[in-house]
Amino acid sequence: MSRFRTGRHPFLIGGLLGLLLGFAGGAGAGLIVEPPAAASSAASSETPTPPMEPAPTSVSPRTPAPAAPKPPAASKKSTHSDVSSYLFGPAQPSPTCGTPGARVVRFRVLVERGLPTTPAAFVAGLRKVLCDERSWIGSGEVRFRYDPNGPLLIGLRTADSTEERCMALIHLSVNHYYSCATRSEVVLNADRWFGGSRYWPGSVAVYRAMLVNHEVGHALGQHHRSCPKDGNPAPVMMQQSKGLSTGGNTCKPNAWPLAYEKRSLD
Ligand SMILES: [Zn+2]
Repeated sequence: MSRFRTGRHPFLIGGLLGLLLGFAGGAGAGLIVEPPAAASSAASSETPTPPMEPAPTSVSPRTPAPAAPKPPAASKKSTHSDVSSYLFGPAQPSPTCGTPGARVVRFRVLVERGLPTTPAAFVAGLRKVLCDERSWIGSGEVRFRYDPNGPLLIGLRTADSTEERCMALIHLSVNHYYSCATRSEVVLNADRWFGGSRYWPGSVAVYRAMLVNHEVGHALGQHHRSCPKDGNPAPVMMQQSKGLSTGGNTCKPNAWPLAYEKRSLD
């Protein structure tokens, strides 16, 4: 059974999208991710794939070493891949938010069954961030609309399902902790959505804004960034879920795309 009906074309994602455990900053290789028309061919790589073994440098010390990647067929049989495990969004599209004339990004949603929210509430939570002028719409380049038939899928999944889905999409473990994204799909770890990150010093609400802006940033083609200078606000595309320091610089937490990040949208 195919869970998804959209996305027939391979998408080029320059660099490895999502949180690349053990390969932080290594976003250089191109990776072709085929949107999930079928579980058995959810993703494929065109260029030589970076080391896919479970990263020896786990960034999540309390988490046991990730299990060996499952063969693609395994996910087919998983209950997480069963369409009945998910709730889908409302039939009614939302209004479009953003600057008139900007490109409209239409997103649909799924929420894994059993999580303490509803698809409608999830849509509202996403729109609260994406429709804020501090978000990507402030660039004047993009607008957002929830649409049950939208090409961008944003899913809220349990940690285990997130791990499985990210493995299928980007062939890398997120240690059951982080989230990931490609140009056509955003996978949000419900533990992070509801609980924030132990590396994030602020509130869960602000963390959630960072999480949405970061992962949707990947869907918009953005790659990871580093902390440019001690004391500067972190670019939202910095992997702040993992900490606030890169290359010896420590940034301040920041949930919103910086001006230069917005300018880099096309
Ligand atoms: Zn990322």
